[in-house]
Amino acid sequence: MKFQRPKGTEDLYNQQSVLYSNIVNRLVTVAKKFNYQEIITPVIEAAELFLRSIGTTTNIVEKEIYQFLDKGNRMLALRPEGTAGVIRAVVENKLYTNQKQTQKYFYCGAMYRYENPQKGRNREFHQFGVEVLGTKSPLLDVEVMLLAKTMLEELTIKDTILHLNYFGSEATKAKFNQAILEVLQKEKNKLCGDCQKRIAKNPLRVLDCQNCSKLDLKLPLIEEFYSAEEKQYFQELTASLTKLKINFKADPYLVRGLDYYNGVIFEFMSASTVLGKSQNTLIGGGRYDNLCQELGVPHQYPAIGFAFGIERLMLLLEKQAELSFMQPLDLYVASIYQAGLVEILSLLADLRKTKYFVDGIFDLFNDKQKSNLIKNLKNSNNLLILEEQGKATLYHLTKKQKVAVSYQNEAELLQKVVKLLG
Ligand code: AMP
Repeated sequence: MKFQRPKGTEDLYNQQSVLYSNIVNRLVTVAKKFNYQEIITPVIEAAELFLRSIGTTTNIVEKEIYQFLDKGNRMLALRPEGTAGVIRAVVENKLYTNQKQTQKYFYCGAMYRYENPQKGRNREFHQFGVEVLGTKSPLLDVEVMLLAKTMLEELTIKDTILHLNYFGSEATKAKFNQAILEVLQKEKNKLCGDCQKRIAKNPLRVLDCQNCSKLDLKLPLIEEFYSAEEKQYFQELTASLTKLKINFKADPYLVRGLDYYNGVIFEFMSASTVLGKSQNTLIGGGRYDNLCQELGVPHQYPAIGFAFGIERLMLLLEKQAELSFMQPLDLYVASIYQAGLVEILSLLADLRKTKYFVDGIFDLFNDKQKSNLIKNLKNSNNLLILEEQGKATLYHLTKKQKVAVSYQNEAELLQKVVKLLG
């Protein structure tokens, strides 16, 4: 039987896995500079957690969630996103009691959605995300967007546009929902089957629908429902973005595929043609001030976060040679005489205690294989061949030179090789 990876998943190796790690390392470095700490939560959670937080009428929950009964008859789900698990951990471990300072977390890991796989849209994909808990301020919102922008810059990704919308409080969002519902009920016949079914429960989803969002429905604008306080909040937020030279595009119909957002929501979209129109969102995020309380914090505990899709970054960055550059070995060791094989073992062990990256081969070599190895060894700067007892040759593969090394014992060999490598 031939096994294949499940549809919508990927194997990453060679340059691809190097690219993946480099991206994550750069994101981690920037997150740490902004004083974020890593939080690691399970890939499996109670399915109910996602139904409660993401919303039962969202695409993710209606169509895409991987859920199953475990052997103990518990309904579990593979996480489709990172926020719900982080907040579950904050509640369960009472991390909210540490209220002295704003809590800043980052996470990175695999997420699962039963999607229609295409370029930049997988069933198993990886997100790097951040969550900031305990503070509500337009300035913090701006700092979170600045973090996202700094991360894009660190990855040398240009040509992105920050799309921004502001929902205000739950009450404002509810009024907007009601106003939209009234229009949609009149225009119901124009909507797709999915939207017709869900408008009563979740009219905002129409704005997120691939088909219906393109209809000219003359919907009201959210800003018509802002209170004076909300107007001021949004004004302060946009003025601070401008002060920090973070370009943005206010998009009054931007919604996100998860119901827990209120306040500001945003997406960084790529203008590159590599990803295609429906996969061009690199980062999605926003404020979700009520989720912590809904999941068990005894008081309101405001929060904001965003997540990057790492596979989409990889598609944009695969031509950046330095990010997928595989570090060559300093030295590769082989032997063409039997007793040399065990010498390789101890020489490699000693060399690995120094600064060098080394490897070797424990199959005995003949002369023909030796010349093939010299010709074909691409991922190493130097090759050492143990020729016979006490004699070896170092081939500088990059400089195309060779040096004969004679030695009495292993300690002396190590010393001479280290000297030659420099
Ligand atoms: P979301 O959790 O839906 O807000 O998505 C946040 C980011 O994760 C998106 O902007 C994408 O970059 C990425 N993403 C979401 N779904 C997928 C997917 N199915 N495949 C690859 N990346 C995804």
